[in-house]
Amino acid sequence: MKAGYEAVIGLEVHVQLRTRSKMFCACQNLTGAPPNSLTCPVCLGLPGALPALNAEAVRMALGLGLAVEAEIRPCSAFYRKQYFYPDLPKGYQITQGPVALVENGHLDIPGDPRVRGAEAPVRIRIERAHLEEDAGKSHHDLDGGASHVDLNRAGVPLLEVVGAPDLRSAAEASDYLKTLHRLVVGLGICDGNLEEGSFRCDANVSVRPIGSVGFGTRVEVKNLNSFRFVRQALEYELARQTTLLERGASVQMETRGWDAAAGETRTQRTKEAAMDYRYFPEPDLPLLTIEPAEIEAARAALPELPEQRIRRWREAYGLGLDEAQTLAQSPAFAAYFEAVASLAGSGRGAAAWMLGEVSRTLNECGAPIEAFPVTPEALAGLVRLVEARTLGFGAAKDQVFPALLAGEGTADAIVAARGLAQVSDRGAIEGLVARVLEANPGPVAQIRGGKESLKGFLVGQVLKAGQGRLDARLVNEVLGEALAKP
Ligand code: ADP
Ligand code: MG
Ligand code: ZN
Repeated sequence: MKAGYEAVIGLEVHVQLRTRSKMFCACQNLTGAPPNSLTCPVCLGLPGALPALNAEAVRMALGLGLAVEAEIRPCSAFYRKQYFYPDLPKGYQITQGPVALVENGHLDIPGDPRVRGAEAPVRIRIERAHLEEDAGKSHHDLDGGASHVDLNRAGVPLLEVVGAPDLRSAAEASDYLKTLHRLVVGLGICDGNLEEGSFRCDANVSVRPIGSVGFGTRVEVKNLNSFRFVRQALEYELARQTTLLERGASVQMETRGWDAAAGETRTQRTKEAAMDYRYFPEPDLPLLTIEPAEIEAARAALPELPEQRIRRWREAYGLGLDEAQTLAQSPAFAAYFEAVASLAGSGRGAAAWMLGEVSRTLNECGAPIEAFPVTPEALAGLVRLVEARTLGFGAAKDQVFPALLAGEGTADAIVAARGLAQVSDRGAIEGLVARVLEANPGPVAQIRGGKESLKGFLVGQVLKAGQGRLDARLVNEVLGEALAKP
């Protein structure tokens, strides 16, 4: 950000809810089914078909509302938002109106010290979260010039989470988005797949001279289907707008799209082309009323939230923020880590393996932790051996871990069968050190004369004599002691 200017950013996120059925009909809410196979008169918008609200979607919205400490409206309504597009079969979208089920919540994020002046958490307000239905999907690139419409997604429940313009840098926007993403995945209400559009973000962005009270004219950037794109698009847009203001020109209120290939935002539609949606209350749906007992039931059903988990792990295991955040990426990953940590009796050891070899293996296969063939018990067996220094890290990584993956038995059995147990018997190491010192009188004299750098050579000789199975830390220690003696 150029000196003298400040960024003002507010994100609108569409969270696709993982309900079993669609928002207003009994069709399955699934991706990957044959086109138009998950449809019925309601989601096709046939005349006379009546919508009925999905109670599971309401419970999920309540869960999010409580997790962000928002107010839950005891009564809210649905509206018709009219526009014409081929993938919108009814000619209108059913969405919540001026009052939303969830209002005035917040998420706390670390805050960007470069713009806040200090390292301190900042509270980003959530203006509202409202329920609405998704549209179908248009395909313009399937065959030649023809366009195709798939209505499987039409009527799928969305929770639109509208953040206040409280974010002050692209980095903060990205942190907020990741925190919200962890939350909805952690609550189990969204699969969190950005690429497939289960978690869609529109970024509203403006700049203003530092010290001014009002906001500048905002631009809405669409089409941001990765955390990286959000950051890049915002940085590009902040630079573009600042340059305009510095030149004395003004920012146009418009919608822009992120062109990832070109690395720039492009005008999609200007304010003049803005539509009048002619909102009016949906006459086919009753008011959505929430009883206090429903709120209490939703509160009781809340799991431990990702941010609470992250705090607990950092305190209990001394993990870094990034490490803990990565471990909290999904409930299944978190549960696996937690099981290994407690079975192995080492949070740090478990974290190192989860963030290292386990993640690397999953990434290579593009598989989720649910498909990982090694049980937490089996991995904990390996972690225990390494932590106890019975097994060297190199042998653990290169031999035992692949053998565990291949199903060759427990870590203990693999180590025994392959003779990999590390020698941490001080007496045995002292013997080897004595032999190596005797065989290398030259280097020993030089080291004693002050040439410390030669010590590594002797350590190497001892490790070699131990056929790579010696505890390197112990070798260093014993060698140091032996050299210190005259
Ligand atoms: P709309 O419904 O037309 O998108 P809203 O007033 O509901 O308009 O605002 C939507 C989003 O725009 C919110 O996330 C809000 O934080 C953000 N926003 C509003 N004003 C600004 C501004 N001047 N700069 C950046 N973001 C803004
Ligand atoms: Mg908007
Ligand atoms: Zn349907």
